[in-house]
Amino acid sequence: MTRSSRDFTLQVEGTAGKCPIGEITGARNMEERSIPVMSCEGACIRGEIARLAANIVAKEAGYRRGCYGELFAVPGSAIAKWTQEAENVVVIDGCFLNCHGRIVKNLLEEGRMIHFDALSRHKKYSDLFDIDDVPEAERKAVARDVADWVLAALKEKTASQQNAA
Ligand code: SF4
Repeated sequence: MTRSSRDFTLQVEGTAGKCPIGEITGARNMEERSIPVMSCEGACIRGEIARLAANIVAKEAGYRRGCYGELFAVPGSAIAKWTQEAENVVVIDGCFLNCHGRIVKNLLEEGRMIHFDALSRHKKYSDLFDIDDVPEAERKAVARDVADWVLAALKEKTASQQNAA
């Protein structure tokens, strides 16, 4: 497995557009001071597990679902502002390639991203791509396990921060 490549930049065409519900949601989340939870949203089964796990974690009190699309491509949006000003941002990538963790960490102050590689937890599906190759019930069970793993780590981090304060 080759893990290294040179850093690179992407040019993104700007937009004057805003997503109406995204603006309402971003403003509400900012007011609530909730923590954004994002996944890599990869198209394969590993990305799907990360996406499902992020959905579960984001339902917990104090967390809300973040949107990488607006963070990366609509930097003036309320969702992007919420993400950039949040105390922490949870990113669940689908595998060791850490596609979104490698981007998000450059958009936040150092140390604010809390990153997880879902594959390192479930260790499954490295020979599959299609989501439908795994039955829905199994997808949900694996995602639940990943979400519980993430939530336990977040709880531990919160406890150690409170002890240090
Ligand atoms: S982190 Fe892995 S699963 Fe997610 S988009 Fe990248 S390659 Fe796909």
